Amino acid sequence: MDLSWSLKELYDSFEDIQFKEDIKKLDELIKKIKTWIDDSTVNRDNEKEKLEKYIKFVVELTGLHEKLATFSMLTLSVDSKHELGNKFDAVLEQKMSTLAGAEAKMSLWISETKELDTLINDSDLLKEHAFYLKEIVREQKYKLGEKEEDIIARMQNTGSSAWVTYKNLLIASHKVEIEIGGEVKEMPLTEVLNMAYDKDKEVRKKAYTAEISSYKKIEEGIAAALNAIKGEVLTICEMRGYDSPLDMTLQNSRMDSKTLEVMLEAMKESFPMFRKYLRKKAEMLGYKKGLPFYELYAPIVKKEMPFSYEAGKAFVEKNFRAFSDDLADFARMAMDKHWIDVAPKEGKVGGAFCCGIHSIGECRIMLNYGNNLSDVITMAHELGHGFHNECLIGESILNINYPMPLAETASTFCETIVKKASLKEADEEEALAILEEEISGCTQVIVDIYSRFIFESEVFKLRKDGPLSVNEINNIMLKAQQEAYGEGLDAEYLHPYMWTWKSHYYYADANFYNFPYAFGLLLAKGLYAQYEKDKDNFPKKYEKLLAVTGKKSIADVVKEAGIDVNSTDFWRSSLRIIEEDIERFIELSDKICH
Ligand SMILES: [Zn+2]
Repeated sequence: MDLSWSLKELYDSFEDIQFKEDIKKLDELIKKIKTWIDDSTVNRDNEKEKLEKYIKFVVELTGLHEKLATFSMLTLSVDSKHELGNKFDAVLEQKMSTLAGAEAKMSLWISETKELDTLINDSDLLKEHAFYLKEIVREQKYKLGEKEEDIIARMQNTGSSAWVTYKNLLIASHKVEIEIGGEVKEMPLTEVLNMAYDKDKEVRKKAYTAEISSYKKIEEGIAAALNAIKGEVLTICEMRGYDSPLDMTLQNSRMDSKTLEVMLEAMKESFPMFRKYLRKKAEMLGYKKGLPFYELYAPIVKKEMPFSYEAGKAFVEKNFRAFSDDLADFARMAMDKHWIDVAPKEGKVGGAFCCGIHSIGECRIMLNYGNNLSDVITMAHELGHGFHNECLIGESILNINYPMPLAETASTFCETIVKKASLKEADEEEALAILEEEISGCTQVIVDIYSRFIFESEVFKLRKDGPLSVNEINNIMLKAQQEAYGEGLDAEYLHPYMWTWKSHYYYADANFYNFPYAFGLLLAKGLYAQYEKDKDNFPKKYEKLLAVTGKKSIADVVKEAGIDVNSTDFWRSSLRIIEEDIERFIELSDKICH
């Protein structure tokens, strides 16, 4: 059976006459839009007609570009050396970037429309795109003049971007000296980090000790990069008029500060239960003073749970069907219509993803299916993204971009469905393995993410007064880990250097790239709690919620399912789902391991 995906719904090949014609069409359209913007923004005549025309232009351009760019990207993801794929991938990006100046001009013009609300109310097309237009106006508030924007963009190439390159070079070429079998070897950092999953306790500890002491060689350089990037972010935030980097992130996420506040509060309340789990794991591994940091990923029970692709498909469809026919029918369609590229092969990139193709109302899912339960769960995760995309098909292409905190909702939700189902069918040892994987993942997303949030807040706070030394940064990290993990971890074995290789701290354009993960996980769990309360009516509400993720603020999106993200109780109900798993884990481990 052919387990490759079909791309002919887009184009037959890069030589396809349709592909060539679409490239030509894209060139013409970009040229047309540029000229039109230049002509239209000189005065304020016919504002409504101009706004309508602009929306039509952007819809056409976005759809055409999506089709072309997706074809290149998908081709490359299963054949990374594809020559024409690589060529067009770069060419398309370059073509689109030529519109930046004109777009900036148009955004300013839209923001200066005096009676925007009246105009929107007067036109069905504008009404449909009201959120899109208002987002342009909202973002404009923080834009500087054309000249300043130009200077910032250029200086960032030699500022934060250059520092990221430098830091990545340091990390990529970093070698850790480690003694293996009586011989001292130099190993790449990634290999040493992977040893945290080793089944041998001594190996895990050795890897940690070697890793920590290895940073002496590069710590000053990495600290310089962190100081430079965080410093640049602070300067730009101030110039643009944001209250703080956190304020900027929240605005970009369409999220209220109140929401973040109550979510963090509920997370903090839940720490005792995570610490209980960590201490249990410590005990199982023979530690008395809490878990050493290097044992966080230690495997406790090794249990293979084989699942062929056929069996995996059937399992996913069956359990999706218990949720709703719409979800199960969608999954079946994706499987039958060859939307999934299943098996690992040469030239194919690692991991898994789902890519929506709004312009043809389909999606494609890439897997590297390896015949295990974890592969079934990944398939459910990606199909969850696909279903999200399916729910957005009726929307305009300008209304489908959802912010990061909502990006993993549908996928985590589907994962939860399949995990809960697999727990029901598992024997006790298998159940313990499934639970351990799930809970250790949740511990990262709730407890570790909390420590990263405190760390980043503190770094920004102190960086305002000048650069921080390696020692200071290490101490901020240790304090943050202590605050989050408490007695769950052995205070003697924390990880002061977690800021070195975690790339999230070095994204100048996406600060606090931590709490959205917690938000995503807890929102999905909270939705699952709602589902358990009302199995008949929830699935339809869920679909409606997914359909508006690209055209409302987060608080308004979740209102579709009757959820108030500004209430601590909502987050408590999400954490309660994890608590049930932890209780079951402790119960089972007492039974099996004693
Ligand atoms: Zn995902």
